Amino acid sequence: MMNYLKIFVAILMCFAMGAFAQSNVIILATGGTIAGAGAQSTNSASYQAAKVPVDQLLLGVPELNRVAKVRGEQVFQKASESLTDEDIVLLAKRVSALAKRSDVDGIVITHGTDTLEETCLFLSITVHTDKPVVCVASMRPSTAMSADGPLNLLSAVTVAADRQSRAKGALIVMNDEILSARDTSKMMNIKPNAFISPWGALGMVLEGKTYYFRTLAKRFGKHSEFNIDEISTLPDVRVIYGHGNAKSDLYYAAAQAGAKAIIHAGTGNGSVAGAVTPTLLELRSKGMQIVRSSHVNAGGFVLRNAEANDDQNGWVVAHDFNPQKARILTALALTKTSDPKEIQRIFWEY
Ligand code: ASP
Repeated sequence: MMNYLKIFVAILMCFAMGAFAQSNVIILATGGTIAGAGAQSTNSASYQAAKVPVDQLLLGVPELNRVAKVRGEQVFQKASESLTDEDIVLLAKRVSALAKRSDVDGIVITHGTDTLEETCLFLSITVHTDKPVVCVASMRPSTAMSADGPLNLLSAVTVAADRQSRAKGALIVMNDEILSARDTSKMMNIKPNAFISPWGALGMVLEGKTYYFRTLAKRFGKHSEFNIDEISTLPDVRVIYGHGNAKSDLYYAAAQAGAKAIIHAGTGNGSVAGAVTPTLLELRSKGMQIVRSSHVNAGGFVLRNAEANDDQNGWVVAHDFNPQKARILTALALTKTSDPKEIQRIFWEY
């Protein structure tokens, strides 16, 4: 009887320890405004990004230690407008390696806001893990009055430490919202509520708790056909902005430079100016992939065979991916196929 009691108490203790054990969260720092520094506290928009090292960032938010066991790692120290495809491949490989470790429960990536949406989409589709991968940034530098970085970082670690955040695809945490990296974009510079998904946030994070309301109905993580462990380089994909007065020279220049695909950042439904259409048909006949995306700000949604005969032209439509996200998905698709029907399938599924 005594032995049974001992076993029962031991099991109870295990449960209690498990409940109170802190998650291990790694913070991968890449630079950006969250690590930015201005000359004065009133400089909220004039400053230098990528200045403050990760250890100093973590010291600035001692509350992190109440949420998780955190460890920082400096991967780059860059403003995100200068992150190359090589950089995001390297970062994703690091995230993938860490996600495989049993002593890592979640990963937070601090990043500049300018290209956060591209990097985080890439992580979502290429890192085969269920562990939370959370991207975070700030709109004001760490030295500014009312800097948004510290609370955003605390919120990101809260999300990464929470088991509820598993298997949701890479997340962007900004301004108390938990957003899907797939369809969230920087819609506004200057304001702290810069990141918006046209389909809404997945949830909220407030005072140390996460509140989820929806999940993503697309392919990501372990269900993706793209695995960063098998990718070393990305093909050259260019984005060209469309407008009524567009000329063909930029499209030819992209082809000459060796681009494998052109994302046409078109008007409205990804529409192509009449003067440019023959050029895109010619380039397609020579093997270039043409992807019609939309530069509509609050979220384009390009319908196939509407305002252009995509079936006949052999073109792809970017669905609801904006031009910069379409560049990432097209580059990934081209690592597997050069069939536009397959590329189109990928756009529908991710
Ligand atoms: N240019 C900065 C960057 O993306 C802007 C920011 O982080 O808000 O690194």
